Amino acid sequence: MIAIEDLRVELDTDTALVRAIDALRLSIGRGETFALVGESGCGKSMTALALMRLLPENGRVTAGRILVAGDDILDLPESRMRGVRGGRIGMIFQEPSTSLNPVMRVGDQIVEAIEAHTPLRGAAARAKAIDWLQRVGIPEPERRIDDYPFRMSGGQKQRVMIAIALAAEPDFLIADEPTTALDVTIQAQILELLKDLQREHRMGLLLITHDLAVVSGMAHRVALMYAGQIIEVAPAAEFFAAPRHPYARALLRALPAAGRREQALEAIAGTVPPLTQDFAGCRFAPRCPQAMVHCAGTLPDLTAVSAQHQVRCLLYAPGAPAVAGTAPAVVALPAEVRATGATAAEPLLQVQDLSVRFPIRGGLLQRPRGWFDAVKDVSFEVARGQTLALVGESGCGKTTTGKAIVQLLGRIAHIEGRALLDGRNLFALSGPDLLAARRQIQIIFQDPFASLNPRMRVFEVLEEGLAALQPDVAGDERRRRIEALVDQVGLRRDTLDRFPHEFSGGQRQRIAIARALAVQPRLIVCDEPTSALDVSVQAQILNLLRDLQRELGVSYLFITHNIGVVEYIADRVAVMQAGRIEEQGPTDQVLGAPATAYTRALLAAVPRL
Ligand code: SF4
Repeated sequence: MIAIEDLRVELDTDTALVRAIDALRLSIGRGETFALVGESGCGKSMTALALMRLLPENGRVTAGRILVAGDDILDLPESRMRGVRGGRIGMIFQEPSTSLNPVMRVGDQIVEAIEAHTPLRGAAARAKAIDWLQRVGIPEPERRIDDYPFRMSGGQKQRVMIAIALAAEPDFLIADEPTTALDVTIQAQILELLKDLQREHRMGLLLITHDLAVVSGMAHRVALMYAGQIIEVAPAAEFFAAPRHPYARALLRALPAAGRREQALEAIAGTVPPLTQDFAGCRFAPRCPQAMVHCAGTLPDLTAVSAQHQVRCLLYAPGAPAVAGTAPAVVALPAEVRATGATAAEPLLQVQDLSVRFPIRGGLLQRPRGWFDAVKDVSFEVARGQTLALVGESGCGKTTTGKAIVQLLGRIAHIEGRALLDGRNLFALSGPDLLAARRQIQIIFQDPFASLNPRMRVFEVLEEGLAALQPDVAGDERRRRIEALVDQVGLRRDTLDRFPHEFSGGQRQRIAIARALAVQPRLIVCDEPTSALDVSVQAQILNLLRDLQRELGVSYLFITHNIGVVEYIADRVAVMQAGRIEEQGPTDQVLGAPATAYTRALLAAVPRL
């Protein structure tokens, strides 16, 4: 149905030519789900854009062919290409907020797709649009069809995007991270819907994602990309059971899971090479634990290791020595580091009957007209030197709980209940006592790009909190502490003189962790600290957080929706739904034998490898 042959895509930038995709070759059949996986910047989304002929203005295809049902779409005039886009090939984009037209009602956007690509018109098209909204799980579709996008949540907008793409009933669908912005239960629903449609229409599906668990449940075949090239392609079952490329093996070992609790995750050292250079050898060579002398000077080709399994690695090239025992052992943590008894330690933080309400405002003067209970009667404890994970779907109140404890809600919310840190109620403190308490609790946010001031050098970022919360620390001592901090989080000293934009996501998250540690807190609220990061970087950050807990005895309130991360890092778990705690207990107990129907449903919806 789709065949891409030796595709090369280049991008002109101010400074250099970027070879975003090189020698890409793949084919996808009718009714097949083909997953393209890899970490950010490896060329997955660029492949999808090339397939739709929607490359950015500075991008162009410089070699290769893209055949759709035998026609090379690179030769089609733009007028015919418009029929291909949406009609023969549908696409679900990654970012729903920028992909919907903000001044058009969502129903009109779906009807537009239906009328452009199917025979339905007028009332029949509208009825079909309502049907699609229903199928993608939008509640009250008859009413919501006339809403504008801004009235919908991120997850609902993503579902509308999916409805628009599917409404044209395409033969082939490209889904670029289609469920990344969604909660696990909605994700499960959307993935099931895509599977159903595929069965009904024998639709081909190119699934682009960094979530390997989603891939394992959806894909027939998988291609792993690295630095603009496909480096391994195989049937999904074969790929997950026996990955061959050293990078694929490392990536799977970097995933957090319950079975790895007593081990440090295997992080992949180094970073992806810039695609501005000419490669003389294997692109993974500088990071490869199995690199051989000739790897840096020989370009590896795709080599077949079985009928449908190909690998771009010289270990499998004809004449190479037999590959055996290639999986390095995972690093076990020393015995004293292993999780202490989840219930033994005494509490550091005790949250008792916490309720947080926000005023609902309306009218010309924006007067309060009612209250919204974001958190209701929540109680839990975080033990010294341990981690409590707060899990649940978005909007369930986990972040609000974290912000209330760190006192980041100011006067915008009404807070009741108590948060006792070492027996002192944080909500009753003021003046110097409050300042002292603030020093003891810090927060790390989800988005390392938005949470650092872009105009401050890293030294100033780290110094700011220290100066505010520990003004008695003198200049020299401050510098010494800050330098020790960057060492501690694994950054180089010259980091201090640079600006946040000069760093990758993982490095920025390390800076954010250093900022939190600067004032020697006893509790850190970690609000989805790894969800914006790639798997290998996530492994580095999780290892770092565990090491710091071991060295400094700091406690974490870990807010996340990633159950793999919870299994790996948390001693105890509290599950939240609609502002309340559904159940809580030791991690193994809650995840292994959940007591409530909600937790069971939540866990059932989590995709697993
Ligand atoms: Fe590692 Fe060499 Fe294979 Fe590249 S070609 S992945 S460096 S063994």
